[in-house]
Parts: sequence; structure tokens; C-alpha cells
Amino acid sequence: MANRLDEIQNLIDNIAMAKKNVIALVDCDSFFVSCEQKVNPELKGKPVCVMSARGQCVISRSKEAKALGIRMGMPYFQVEGKMKEATFINASHDLYGEVSKEVMDVLKRFSPKVEVYSIDEAFVDLTGLERLYKKNYLEIAQMIRQTIKEEVDIPVSIGLSSTKSLAKLASDKAKSHEDGIFLIGHRKILPVLEHTSIDEIWGIGRNLSALLRRNGILTAYELVKQSDIWLNKQIGIRGLEMKHELLGEMVSPVSDEIKLPKSIQKTSAMAKFTSDKEYIKNSLNYHIHRACVKLRKINAKCHGIGIMLRTKDFKVFYKKRVLNQATSFELEISDIIFEMLDSIYNPNILYRSTGVILDTFVLNSEAQLSLFADNEAEEKKDKLSKCFDKLEEKFGKNIIQTGFITKDT
Ligand SMILES: [Mg+2]
Repeated sequence: MANRLDEIQNLIDNIAMAKKNVIALVDCDSFFVSCEQKVNPELKGKPVCVMSARGQCVISRSKEAKALGIRMGMPYFQVEGKMKEATFINASHDLYGEVSKEVMDVLKRFSPKVEVYSIDEAFVDLTGLERLYKKNYLEIAQMIRQTIKEEVDIPVSIGLSSTKSLAKLASDKAKSHEDGIFLIGHRKILPVLEHTSIDEIWGIGRNLSALLRRNGILTAYELVKQSDIWLNKQIGIRGLEMKHELLGEMVSPVSDEIKLPKSIQKTSAMAKFTSDKEYIKNSLNYHIHRACVKLRKINAKCHGIGIMLRTKDFKVFYKKRVLNQATSFELEISDIIFEMLDSIYNPNILYRSTGVILDTFVLNSEAQLSLFADNEAEEKKDKLSKCFDKLEEKFGKNIIQTGFITKDT
């Protein structure tokens, strides 16, 4: 066994000598609660919980709330009454989105390579910044942490290492570290892997965890000990990538590209089988609205617009149109969907479900305005759409429906 350990340590040393990447994972602490404390400073240092949108369960807790024994996902009826000293706040995702952007903007000032991984986490490539700042990487991390605290008033933990997978493990450790920073240097990789259960590894979900356990692999160390051939056979290329990332060899670089989804699909069964066209339109209208809200959330427009009708006996009718000019404008999308509905709808058929599919996205920032497009009109549409979203956030979901209004009303 000792030999195997030495062998792996040699491998890690060699990788570390050849490549000198330094990746940070910056993770906001109890993010939603921290946002609430930022706007309500009197809540700082107190047990605070943020509840899911409809106030059903706990989705973020302050340290003090954790200490009271309040768990993630606890339903409100279990915590109310019992936890009188705690404050419960309904989530305002609008606020969290804005604060998140502030945090990410600070990070982008430190390094040009920032990958926003989730609303409260980002990978930052710090490679080479030692010389620029004339500080070592730990000091750079401290500087980042302090700047975010001072300028945005949000506490963060920072994990540092040579790959994203290791930085992620480091950030978990940073959470319980006094100064909120943890570095896994190449001499610390092995001891960390020995004490890391496979479930803690980035990218290992329930199924993969079960497969590894069936094969007697319980720790990250036992994973990297496996041969490439075995990993490739059992898990595929992803398994190989995991092993190399855990040994300190960067496979997945920090990428500042924004990943857009392939499509947005909103479908559901109707309350009854029906051939009533107005009823079907209503159901489609609901999907159009939800799809458009999602589209605007990812700051994108779509070229592809599809409609799906499923009949009582499960036959599917589908039609799609591809626009030259991408759009996220609800009225335009609903006009197109209803035109397509006219062409596939048959009054003699009973339908069971409807769906709306949007695809082929472009980011708003990159949406090419076509030469012949009316740019001013496009801008107006964008503004109107944003108004819809603001009102909805204020007054609740689906307060606004485009109904069957056409463009000339
Ligand atoms: Mg977090």
C-alpha cells in the first residue's frame, strides 16, 4: 500500500511541476440569508432563514439558525412556533440576482477568467496573478474576500487549488476554516483525497456513487488509485477526467462562456380531454408565458418556436417555425404559436396535453439585429417584456397574461 501511495504522490508532484494552474472557487456563505442581512443589517448575527418562494420550506440558513437545529428543506409548519427566536423571510430572487451580479463584477476585476457556476459560486483562474499583485495566492484570496466584504457586504469562502474539482473540495473545507480560505497545494492533495468520501467529489451523483460503492470505492483516494482502463470501462471518459482533475491535472479549464440551455420546454396535460380550441389556447398561453419568463431570465432570445399537441390516444402533432430575427417578445411568440395551432388543430380530435418549445438561443448581448429590423421597435419590445417581469415579481406569478390580444390592439 505504501508503495502505491508513493507512486501516486510522484504522479501528483510531476503534474504540479509541469503545470502551475491556480484556480479559486469563490462561494458566498449562506447566500440568500447574507443578501437579506445586507439590506437589513439588524438581522446580522441572528438566526435567520429564507423560505422558498411560496414560503413552504427553508432554503437558506444563517449560522445561528443552523445552531438552533433548523435543517435545510424543513417545512414551515415544523419550524414555526418552535423557533420563535428565528426570523423567517420569503425569498426574493430578484434581490439575490442583483447581489450575485455585484459579487461577480468584483471577481471580474481581479481576473479576466471568471466562470459563474451558480448564483453564489464562481471559479476564478488566478494563474499568473502572483506577479501582477506581488502577493502569494493566499494573500490574493484574502484580498478578494475582503474586497467583496467591503464593497458588497457579502461573506465568501474561497477554496484554492490547481483544478476546479480540487478547488471545490478546498472551498468545502474553507467553510469551516477561521479565515474562510483553504488551499490544497500538491503536497496536501493525497491526505485530502484520503479523507474525502466519493459523495463529496464534484460531479458524483447518486447513481455513480452507488456504482463506485458496489466496487468497494468509498474515498477519493480509492478512486484515483483505479487504472484509467478500469475507470473508462466503468464510468467512461467522465471517470478519467475526474481522476486527473483530482490528481491536480486540469481537464476542465475556467470558461467564461455562458452556457445556454438547448431548449426550453413547457408542457402539461389539460384538466380534461377536449377539442375546445379556446380551452387549448388558454393552456398554450400559460406555457408561452412561463417559457418567455424563463427565456428572459437567461437573458436570451430564441429563433426556434415550436408547438406540440398530444391527442387523447397519445398521437403527437408538432410544428416548428424558425425566425430570422430572434425574439423573446411574448406577444410575437404567442401570435406565431396560435398561427401554427390553426394549421394543426382538428376540431374532431380530443386533445390531452399541450406544449411550447423554444430553442436556438442567442444571448441578448449578442443578438444580431438584422439589417432590415426596426431596432427601435425591438428595444420597445424588450422594455415592455422587462416591465412584465417586474410586475410579476411584485404581484405574483401569472398576474399578467397576454390573453389573446394581438399586436394591433
Ligand atoms: Mg454558497
